Amino acid sequence: MAGNPAKVKVRVAPSPTGFLHIGTAQSALYNWLFAKKMAGTFYLRIEDTDKERSTKEFEQDIIDGLTWLGLDWEGDVIRTSDHLQNYRAPLEKLLREGKAFYCHHSQEELEAERQRQESEKVPPRHECRHKELPLGKEGGGIIRLAVDAASDRKIVFNDVIRGPIEFKAALLGDFSIARSVSDPLYNFYVIIDDAEMEISHIIRGEDHISNTPKQILIYEALGLPVPLFAHLPLILAPDRSKLSKRHGAMSVMEYKKDYLSGSLINFLGGLGYTFSKDILSREEMTAEFDLAKVHKSGAVFDIKKLNWINAQYVKRLSPADLRQAAGLPDISDAAAPLVTERLEKLSDAREFSYLWSEPEYEADMLGWKNEDAHITRTALERVKGVIENWDFQDEKILRGRLDSVAGGDRGGVYWPFRVALSGKKFSPDPVQIMLVLGKDEVIKRINIAISKLS
Ligand SMILES: [Zn+2]
Repeated sequence: MAGNPAKVKVRVAPSPTGFLHIGTAQSALYNWLFAKKMAGTFYLRIEDTDKERSTKEFEQDIIDGLTWLGLDWEGDVIRTSDHLQNYRAPLEKLLREGKAFYCHHSQEELEAERQRQESEKVPPRHECRHKELPLGKEGGGIIRLAVDAASDRKIVFNDVIRGPIEFKAALLGDFSIARSVSDPLYNFYVIIDDAEMEISHIIRGEDHISNTPKQILIYEALGLPVPLFAHLPLILAPDRSKLSKRHGAMSVMEYKKDYLSGSLINFLGGLGYTFSKDILSREEMTAEFDLAKVHKSGAVFDIKKLNWINAQYVKRLSPADLRQAAGLPDISDAAAPLVTERLEKLSDAREFSYLWSEPEYEADMLGWKNEDAHITRTALERVKGVIENWDFQDEKILRGRLDSVAGGDRGGVYWPFRVALSGKKFSPDPVQIMLVLGKDEVIKRINIAISKLS
């Protein structure tokens, strides 16, 4: 497991016990950015050891989400379940050397110990007498790492983001590493996998900080080189609590109907890092990225910011890209700019369907401030007259003529005109819509409106 220590190798290692959520996607992004920046390698490892809760559906969701976000990984997807045979030999080695042992205490005994420690207000841990007894060599119990309770050693690691973090080794107790030689626990198998893959930097969420001293002791017991650690800040809900489903802790794939992947990446990047500008591509983020400058404290998930970023990306879409992203093949080239100028969420593009298909609406929407149908119909007939005699060249002349038809009552003319074209109470200016629809379609829609009023 030697390898070249200068070579950066990182991984994201989600468990397929749920969908790919925003936090894991951000963690993947920072790993990916760091790998690109350092000309290193980024891997995807699926930790599917929880046989009860892991599903192929969740695994596929993780793969689909990272693919959609463009966070490409090196080689095939690696699965923990594919190399279960790797864990047994190092566990047996630790047992043989007396660095690990079998604990035969019952759940009841451990629970009683925990309650006693709680009442004495000391950190809960299990210091097991069995490690010094022949019993500790006898299989059948849970496997624990032997930690010296009398040691005053401090386990210190220099977190790339947070600086030095220290833990008292004695407070860890003899922590468990496997249920049996063929059933390792998280802190054990994650190390064997990382060592096997020669991972140089463990970049992961801050919820893993408390695992780190235990993992360092396991690395040491196995004589493996300890990688560098960087713990990312969590993404928080607006009230600074843990992000819940309501606030965005849903599958990343659910964002696809509303957001461009570039927008979501841009948003996630800025949630834990201060880049030089608000809108920047993966490549620009890579050029600026410095792992040590990732924020230490959690960032609030602000959906308004995501919407704003998405709007900036949508503005740049070509008509063809808009049709594809919104899943609306009927958007015309002429209509596209009117949509992209106003759109925050892709699914709202349907609101503009009057730009490419006839609107449906009730006749009473046409009247400005409950104006009499007769007055409204007259206004529309006069608008129609102006349009029929306009050459579709000089927009200013058209506006001038419409204004003179309106006289002092702009609402009485522009309102029914706009509703006739869009079927909406709120829409862009009718002249803009008219230029998209063309003369024939506009006359047709005005005639439909007039007939609704007759
Ligand atoms: Zn014990």
